[in-house]
Amino acid sequence: MLNDKISLDCITCDKSYGYDYSDFYCECGDLLEVKFKSLPDLSKEQIRLRSTNFASKVQSGVWRFKEWHLDLEESSICSRNEGNTNLYNSSLLSEYTGINQLRIKHEGENPSGSFKDRGMTTAISMAKLLGYKAVACASTGNTSASMASYAASCGLKAFVFIPEGKISFGKLSQSLAYGAHTLQIKGNFDDALDLVQEICKRKGIYLLNSLNPYRIEGQKSIFFEMMQQLNYKVPDWIILPGGNLGNISALGKGACELFEWGVIDKIPRFAVVQAQGANPFYTMMSSRAHHLEKMTPETIATAIRIGNPVSWKKAQKIVTKSKGYVTQVSEEEIIEAKVMVDRSGIGAEPASCCSIAGLKKLHNQKVIQANESVVAVLTGHVLKDPDNNVKIHTNMDSPFYNGAIKLSNNTDEIETTIDKLLLDSSC
Ligand SMILES: *Cc1c(COP(=O)(O)O)cnc(C)c1O
Ligand SMILES: [Zn+2]
Repeated sequence: MLNDKISLDCITCDKSYGYDYSDFYCECGDLLEVKFKSLPDLSKEQIRLRSTNFASKVQSGVWRFKEWHLDLEESSICSRNEGNTNLYNSSLLSEYTGINQLRIKHEGENPSGSFKDRGMTTAISMAKLLGYKAVACASTGNTSASMASYAASCGLKAFVFIPEGKISFGKLSQSLAYGAHTLQIKGNFDDALDLVQEICKRKGIYLLNSLNPYRIEGQKSIFFEMMQQLNYKVPDWIILPGGNLGNISALGKGACELFEWGVIDKIPRFAVVQAQGANPFYTMMSSRAHHLEKMTPETIATAIRIGNPVSWKKAQKIVTKSKGYVTQVSEEEIIEAKVMVDRSGIGAEPASCCSIAGLKKLHNQKVIQANESVVAVLTGHVLKDPDNNVKIHTNMDSPFYNGAIKLSNNTDEIETTIDKLLLDSSC
């Protein structure tokens, strides 16, 4: 069945493999991606009906679009009803970035708290379908949290490879709690990714990093769901953080396919934001180099603390094709944007806030105009990185200080303090 619908094709040469090919690389060394053999049969009306079909797995914000990514029988789907994330307006963030028509797609509202759930539900369903008993990934935190959750819910053994000491507490605690075997590896994320690939090959374990093309397929649904929410009116720009560059590759692939299939009338421009301390894609694109130079990454935005992004070729294609843009933001810009995102009441982890920091910058640089429509993707939940939340707001020297006020249990003293705060127009 699936063999009639899709194949795994090389992104560079013209080799093609079956959907169940056991490697994610072509013989030529480049990555594979899912190609559709014919026009998928799915109407907007079907999507609308599935959205309210609460008894079914196709109510999921991923699986209601299944003909557009991975068309499995319901019985083969391992889902936590992911997706269905909000698309917010925020006057505060519009003002901050200078963009009037700004919408915020909050992917931190997925079941495990990041967009990774969208690609995990498709790739782990494929793991089951192919008969694997164990799955593994290297992770800066969110992929492992997501994989651990899905593996637990569908009865697979899970092995998580994390870089030593460079992972936020919220994320690590999820892996442990969901029961994944967590292996802490010396070195950074890029080292862990090399190791896990080798181990998966040796042990016949299914790899769930975003070089797995079925991760990318599920993540396309961020774009699909956004389109449904916008009544299929394509925004001028979509802006998102870039780490391993799987997400930009996914949204870009989804947009190109919907355009090709006649569902939408244009491809949005894609802007990718990297942290200055983990900016190999920015460096490559801004110097018009043909190859990516890996680097040693360092940033507060641990989810994108990646120096050798595996999907750079896919990302380069979509940025070029969509007349997009790649920018970078400093640690200070990330923190300031995070304070704004959090104060808006929406809240997100540091890496997510690169979208907002980058948007403000691109507006200031006149790359994005005030009256253009923009969707900024927030990728992870505010509770993913509680340490940084506390750090930012309890440092007395910080302009963002908002530490707890210590008082005795005396009503008069509390009242006096509250009176002062009620009168203070600066907070
Ligand atoms: C994984 C992740 C990213 C980066 O996505 P890539 O696909 O690696 O570019 C950004 N933000 C958060 C919160 C993430 O978990
Ligand atoms: Zn090839």
